[in-house]
Amino acid sequence: MIAATSHANQLATPFDPVPLPSAPGWQQLLADAVTDPRELCTLLELDPALVLPAVAAAKDFALRVPRSYVARMRKGDPNDPLLLQVLPVAAETQLVEGFVTDPVGDMDRRAAQGLLHKYQGRALLVTTGACAVHCRYCFRRHFPYGEESALQQGWLGALEHLRADTTITEVILSGGDPWSLSDRRLKQLTDALQALPHIRRLRVHTRYPIVLPERIDSGLLDWLQGVRLQKVVVMHANHAHEIDESVREACRKLAAAGTTLLNQSVLLKGVNDSVIALAELSEALFETHVLPYYLHVLDKVRGAAHFDLPESRALELHRELTARLPGYLVPKLVREIAGAPAKTAVVGL
Ligand SMILES: *Cc1c(COP(=O)(O)O)cnc(C)c1O
Ligand code: SF4
Repeated sequence: MIAATSHANQLATPFDPVPLPSAPGWQQLLADAVTDPRELCTLLELDPALVLPAVAAAKDFALRVPRSYVARMRKGDPNDPLLLQVLPVAAETQLVEGFVTDPVGDMDRRAAQGLLHKYQGRALLVTTGACAVHCRYCFRRHFPYGEESALQQGWLGALEHLRADTTITEVILSGGDPWSLSDRRLKQLTDALQALPHIRRLRVHTRYPIVLPERIDSGLLDWLQGVRLQKVVVMHANHAHEIDESVREACRKLAAAGTTLLNQSVLLKGVNDSVIALAELSEALFETHVLPYYLHVLDKVRGAAHFDLPESRALELHRELTARLPGYLVPKLVREIAGAPAKTAVVGL
């Protein structure tokens, strides 16, 4: 026994001192995102004719996409459902009637700097303008984050409102993407929220588990585990191809840290406007222990008209999906109506 042990020790020696090459951290991966349309087209072996319009449209809203997300796209396919979500195109620069800069009336519903209190019991904190990815259809693409993030004031105004209004039981961290903040900032914020006895739930609206799952690292999980509020993570996937093993692993870790996992999607022409695409998305989410929550019809934001579908088509797709899947895999089809007391179910013309 003794001899065998010492032999094993000798064998182990040459391997032990060699450090494993450490994987780049999420901040490094974020900094290394693709931001040049030319590079994106080269990586994906796309027609170089796509570059110039992309460069022009990116002037209004820059291209930004993490490399691991690019790796999930099909090479040589200009209609890849992941590519369409991030590639700037000429259609964005055309003005289309009815498509405006603040389609959901957010700027009218400020309760404090960076705090939107539109719905009963829930307040939404705009934590940062930064996102890991720039989604071309995003309704916040024209949002004046410079002035409007709660962080500008060190959360003070927002926290003051949350402290004073004891009807608020749930705080939603949104943005931008709240997980762009450092773990230290997140902890500062949740420490302050936990000091308010009427706050019961913390919800995080984030695309990181989908577009940069490396963000779900030990630091983030330590923070989450330390939060005593009930925790809900609402992620944002629009297509089954977005969900690979790295996403599944991130979701497993989030679930193990005590979070309930939901998903919201946006119905997007060319990306997921078929019953097959929507059903596959729901199934892929469920295999990842994520329940579909909302399917949003597009907010009429300037620059996104080419993703729009007639409401009748949205309803038809939703009916077909309902006929095909168990109820718990059918997201609610909703739209945002400025001034309404909740997200409004789309029920017909
Ligand atoms: C969507 C949204 C919420 C959350 O609505 P739920 O229906 O609870 O998911 C809260 N506040 C604002 C400002 C929102 O846009
Ligand atoms: S991650 Fe969310 S907030 Fe950021 S650009 Fe995409 S949809 Fe908009």
